[in-house]
Amino acid sequence: MGGGITGLAATLYLTQQGIDFILIEKHKNTSIYPRARTIDVRTMELFRGLGLHEDLREGGKLLAPAWGIIRGNNLMEALRNPVGKITPRQLMEAQKELKSFAGESPETVCRCTQDISEAILHNTAKEQGADLRLGHQMLLFRQHENEVELLVENRVTGEQYKITADYMIAADGANSTVRKQLDIPVSGNGSWTDLLNIYFEADLELLVKGREFSQFLIDTPEITGFLLTINNKDKWAFHLRFYPENGETPADYPDEKLIAILRHILGIQDLKISILKVLPWQLTVIIASQMRINRIFLAGDAAHTMTPYAGKGANAGIQDVQNLAWKLAAVLKQGAGDTLLDTYHAERQQVGAYYARLSGELADKNGLINQVLMVTKAKDLMGLPDYGYKSTAVKRETNLPFTYFIGEPGTRIPHLWLNESHTSSSLDWVRGQFVLVANRSEGWQDECDKLKQQLSIHIQLIIVNDKNILKKWKKLTHTMHHEALLIRPDDFVAAKLTPGNLQEVMRSILSK
Ligand SMILES: Cc1cc2nc3c(=O)[nH]c(=O)nc-3n(C[C@H](O)[C@H](O)[C@H](O)COP(=O)(O)OP(=O)(O)OC[C@H]3O[C@@H](n4cnc5c(N)ncnc54)[C@H](O)[C@@H]3O)c2cc1C
Repeated sequence: MGGGITGLAATLYLTQQGIDFILIEKHKNTSIYPRARTIDVRTMELFRGLGLHEDLREGGKLLAPAWGIIRGNNLMEALRNPVGKITPRQLMEAQKELKSFAGESPETVCRCTQDISEAILHNTAKEQGADLRLGHQMLLFRQHENEVELLVENRVTGEQYKITADYMIAADGANSTVRKQLDIPVSGNGSWTDLLNIYFEADLELLVKGREFSQFLIDTPEITGFLLTINNKDKWAFHLRFYPENGETPADYPDEKLIAILRHILGIQDLKISILKVLPWQLTVIIASQMRINRIFLAGDAAHTMTPYAGKGANAGIQDVQNLAWKLAAVLKQGAGDTLLDTYHAERQQVGAYYARLSGELADKNGLINQVLMVTKAKDLMGLPDYGYKSTAVKRETNLPFTYFIGEPGTRIPHLWLNESHTSSSLDWVRGQFVLVANRSEGWQDECDKLKQQLSIHIQLIIVNDKNILKKWKKLTHTMHHEALLIRPDDFVAAKLTPGNLQEVMRSILSK
């Protein structure tokens, strides 16, 4: 339930797993607000798995040159004399950090605004024939022992109807009614800054060409806020701090007043400006202590609301549902035990909580981004998963800290280019299914066949035949000739195996 970026991503992963579902979204269309602009490396890997990575890069190509933060009393002045722009040295250091994982992924960070990414996800789901009910609002829900029951209203016809389902994913955003009604305890900073998201049109193309920036910060006695580049041409979003604690409401900011403010912050008094939309929102950190309550799973902002400064809200939501979809499929179609579903909370809650807290630390006392801290956190923010999963869905022999990108159980499968043209990666083996990557052929096919016969579980067997690739793969993964890596459908390594124990390990991972 909820058709924002998290709910839409869920539809694609459920379809990939062959699970029937209905998406309920109260708005008639996907959101026009640009909001998230950065898709991190890991999420790009996920979109690569769905074959959408190139569409997203294409969708974001106008935004792509916009990097760096500038500040000043108005934009004209800041562009002329970019005080506060991240210095070349800071950038170099950040890039050095980034380079340290450049060889570890087939993907790179992508810039694409959320209005475009949501439309791409929505259109793909529609083409796949998904049951997407936009303009339908969930009014009530009830959870029973064997099902979840929803009362839904078609907001166009006014018709009300019931839906029953085995499970519900609640991706209903920061103000999640599901989270509130289930009375799930939360932690975090609550809300400490109110902002008006002013989405507007103004032709600034010539002004910014060759001097592109990502954010312009303004913090004067009269105005505090930040301007975000949307397409480097005519679309911009200014987030203006306003003060409900002093009795202010959005109604105190009619369009004429906003246009005067925008002309002031841009430093161009006669600029033609059209206000497209205005949305009040709050800089806030809310972390739900539980992501699973029996048959209901919280995902995305509903589970972990963050400030935009870590650039992780949408990324974390997409990664949540990719983690959940294969587990639901395993329970519904492969007879996996209910305990497997507990691993969703065990694996994802700490990740969401980490990014939410980090996003809070990245906000300064006036509610603007803390640039210095941002540079030091570059690697975390651009994001490969330097987190590992410890749960019953991973067979880990040690309690030592994780070593990433070498195939350790609980970490994402290591990336290795499989061809000279660098178009095919070891990550491409996975695509939403269990995969066994073996260093030699003998024995493994029989084990996979037995698993199919006895547990009705299909595993895609990859035997690394190419001598050069095998040499690199064994070195990278520290595996011996007789060993194999079992990879989960979400790209994470489930276990390192020796011949003879595939069935037992699979039973344990699936709680079967
Ligand atoms: C200025 C800004 C910049 C940002 N930048 C980034 C960034 O660079 N990178 C990043 O990863 N994140 C960023 N974020 C955060 C990102 O936008 C959010 O984390 C993301 O939108 C959360 O998606 P969601 O689907 O979980 O929730 P939402 O987008 O809030 O979607 C929830 C949906 O549920 C629907 N809904 C709610 N209740 C019901 C109901 N009863 N019935 C039916 N439908 C219902 C709502 O209509 C809504 O469509 C930014 C946010 C802002 C504001």
